[in-house]
Formats: sequence, C-alpha cells, structure tokens
Amino acid sequence: MIHYSLVCENRHAFDAWFKNAAAFDQQVEMGIVTCPICSTHNVQKSIMAPAVARSGEDRSRPETPPPQLPRTGDKSGEKMTFSAGHPQQAQLRDALRQLRDALTSEADYVGDRFATEARKIHFHEVEARGIYGEATRDEVNDLVEDGIEFMPLPQIPEDHN
Ligand SMILES: [Zn+2]
Repeated sequence: MIHYSLVCENRHAFDAWFKNAAAFDQQVEMGIVTCPICSTHNVQKSIMAPAVARSGEDRSRPETPPPQLPRTGDKSGEKMTFSAGHPQQAQLRDALRQLRDALTSEADYVGDRFATEARKIHFHEVEARGIYGEATRDEVNDLVEDGIEFMPLPQIPEDHN
C-alpha cells in the first residue's frame, strides 16, 4: 500500500491509501478519487512525498527523504526551462521521479566532486560505478568537451517545497 497526501482543486488536503502508484493514477483517471470535503474529482498529490506502509511501523513517517537535488550553476537569475498544464503532467512527473530514483538509488552521492569523479570513472582511474552530484556550468562544459558521458538528473519542482 502507498499512502498519498492529496490536495483538490479547492486546496482541501486529505489522505488516501492506494495499492500502488499505478492504482492511484488509474483511479484518478477514472474519477474515482474525490475530495471528501467538496467531492471534486480534480485531485492531485500534494507536495508531501508518498510514504510506503510497513507493518508495525509508524505509518505517518515518510519514506527516506528524496536525495538532494543537484543544482547546475546555482546562479540566481540563471534561467531554466519548465513545462506546465500538460494533460498528463501528474503521470509524467511520477515518471520523472521514478527515473531520478533509478538514477540515484544505485549511485553514490559525490556532492560537488561530481566532475572530478565522473572524469576518474571515464578514464578508468577508479572502479566503474554510478554517481550523482553537483557541477558548475564550467565543469559541465569541460566534461562535454572531454567527451565524458553524463546526463542531468530530472528535477521535480514540488520537491523544492
Ligand atoms: Zn475539495
């Protein structure tokens, strides 16, 4: 079972349990999930991370916190690209989260040593392994120039709350 904190279009917050993430998506799509206060079908997951139930444990405790999100550059005023209003936004955001979880779950967090570590791995100076971390724009440019393969971790705006 997965616990979701949900919020409706009228900003009523409520909780619900679902068999799994797919069941949640399916039930929302079918309009089965309704707000207990105003009965609207227009509900979505709130900014809270879903918690997975474990028998015998406190169900209100969230699962392990999301990994720290790398920020590329970190210059205020630097523009990023966003999307909004896509009809499948909720599903796509879930897919992005799954992608990010897949990329980070078996990887070492190396913080701002990302560029250094990525280079070491590329040149076989250390044992191959997955890493994730932060890099400046200059470091990113250098990695690209050196032909080192890497990719941005998907960032999910709601996680910043
Ligand atoms: Zn409501």
